[in-house]
Amino acid sequence: MASIHAKLALLPDGWASDVRIGFKGRDIETVDAGIEAGPDDERHDVLLPAMSNLHSHAFQRGMAGLAETRGPTEDNFWSWRTVMYKFALSMNPDQMQAIAAQLYVEMLEAGFSRVGEFHYLHHDRDGRPYADIAEMAVRIVAAAEETGIGLTLLPVFYAHSNFGGLSPTDGQRRFVCNLDSFGRLLDGARHAASRLPGAATGIAPHSLRAVAPEELAALTKLSGEGPIHIHAAEQVKEVEDCISALHRRPVEWLLENAGVDGRWCLIHATHMTQEEARGLARSGAVAGLCPVTEANLGDGFFEAETYLANDGAFGVGSDSNVLIGIRDELRQLEYAQRLARRARNIVAVPGGSTGRRLFDGAIAGGAQALGGRSGLVAGAPADMMTLDRSAVPYVGADQILDHFIFANGIRVGSVWAGGRKLVDGGRHLRREEIAARFRRVMAELVTH
Ligand SMILES: [Zn+2]
Repeated sequence: MASIHAKLALLPDGWASDVRIGFKGRDIETVDAGIEAGPDDERHDVLLPAMSNLHSHAFQRGMAGLAETRGPTEDNFWSWRTVMYKFALSMNPDQMQAIAAQLYVEMLEAGFSRVGEFHYLHHDRDGRPYADIAEMAVRIVAAAEETGIGLTLLPVFYAHSNFGGLSPTDGQRRFVCNLDSFGRLLDGARHAASRLPGAATGIAPHSLRAVAPEELAALTKLSGEGPIHIHAAEQVKEVEDCISALHRRPVEWLLENAGVDGRWCLIHATHMTQEEARGLARSGAVAGLCPVTEANLGDGFFEAETYLANDGAFGVGSDSNVLIGIRDELRQLEYAQRLARRARNIVAVPGGSTGRRLFDGAIAGGAQALGGRSGLVAGAPADMMTLDRSAVPYVGADQILDHFIFANGIRVGSVWAGGRKLVDGGRHLRREEIAARFRRVMAELVTH
């Protein structure tokens, strides 16, 4: 059994001193506080659970920083999507695997030990299935295997361009399935993931605009016990179209019709009424927030105050993967609330740390959304990270997470996923070779 000793560790009931964690294989076996380090312990200063990144579209990492030039008309989500489709339409399986591996290295270096890959780039460039219909899912699994990140694979069902069952557009040809072909794709994806230790699979109906109500009902039956993720209420236009077609707002419709419970994760849930926020919180589902992407795309901001006041579960995801960082996501989540309310420390409980509230919430909600357990506790996966506070040794336990999220000076040091130490001194063990391949692939993609 391997063991780590930390001067400070964040346990489920708070910070504890002199903590020794024993782990074997993928899981934590023992947690003891107030204990001296043993001779074979790996010693660290500050140890925390690593986080789940609950929402990613890996291929979009390739266009990070390449869609920030203003177009001839007003730029918004829909013009960004046009650029994204162009990019998506050109990528082959080798290129996607290279981009996904680079992304997963960056996630691990940021302290994310597991990713929920909302995977919808399925087919060949002409829209026809590959010889193995799950080829691209196999490549996502391969990228996770190369990097060691924990994977919850969420194959996406995508069938329509808008509400009312409208036919998909030509730009969506690589995403599209019917229920039959999706069943085969799901089998292939599950088979690929089953060969990766610690991997899980769920299902992802893309959104209410891309999935008709009767298809959603069929998909929910296919999901088994795994998580169900769906994009909901990201855009005002989407809410308006939903009201026209289904006479309800997206979150409202899902709560009334889809049997939303603790297996569900509603990605974004940006545009909610107070009543929807209360209903979603009570459903037990996780709100999958992607604050950096939502800011980058100009989506809007989440109704955090009402949602959290009703004990709503939330986690964070990097979605478009324009920037990867636990601290960036959590800071943006809080800052959006501050700007909207013109107040400070919105998510914290009175007298409590904002950083702790954000971090604890995202650890628990992220694990729930990806079908796993969280925390430094016996039986949970050995998904852990250290923080290096050597530049700010005066920062005590109660301010470590506030400092990490809101200020400079504290960095991620080491990261373990499923008991394997993959990041040391802030750098992934295979960073150089994976980054070199990524640069080669990007040179191919941006010059064609
Ligand atoms: Zn998304």
